[in-house]
Amino acid sequence: MKSRVHVLHGDITQVAVDVIVNAANSSLLGGGGVDGAIHRAAGPALLEACKKVRQQMGECPAGHAVITQAGDLPAKAVIHAVGPVWQGGEHREAELLEDAYMNSLQLALANGYNSIAFPAISTGAYGYPRAAAAEIAVKTVSKFLIRRALPDQVYFVCYDEENAHLYSRLLTQQG
Ligand code: ADP
Repeated sequence: MKSRVHVLHGDITQVAVDVIVNAANSSLLGGGGVDGAIHRAAGPALLEACKKVRQQMGECPAGHAVITQAGDLPAKAVIHAVGPVWQGGEHREAELLEDAYMNSLQLALANGYNSIAFPAISTGAYGYPRAAAAEIAVKTVSKFLIRRALPDQVYFVCYDEENAHLYSRLLTQQG
């Protein structure tokens, strides 16, 4: 399992995997944080693709994910996953965060992608406590990979050192 899951410290827009995950908001029309960085790096084609999805499907609720092209990014596609806003933990936040990871993995599998990179969904503006979010991310990915061949390589891309340490520790514990 360990050899299929990795931690990277850096900027997800620069990661050359098949598909990167965006911590999107329900509007799908861009925002701050990693969402803003992805749209800036991808250029206008990504926003156009998001607008199309938005027209067809309306808003994307928390826990759900949609896939688009990746514009100018090195990745081939972007999965826009909407995490929950942290409201103290009694509003199904854990379940919705797990769903966001699970639905992203499902989309990568359905599209035949071999490698996927995740940011730490919900841990920025959405305020999810980092250690708890990292545990859910690692547990959900591990559970998914056990019975699936794709995606074969999963990267947790941590923008800051604190998250990188959290993920590294969890993956080491898992063996
Ligand atoms: P959310 O609204 O889901 O909380 P944010 O974008 O505010 O999304 O933050 C999610 C995580 O993404 C945070 O841990 C933040 O540090 C991280 N982040 C911000 N920019 C980047 C980037 N370019 N690459 C990877 N992670 C990033």
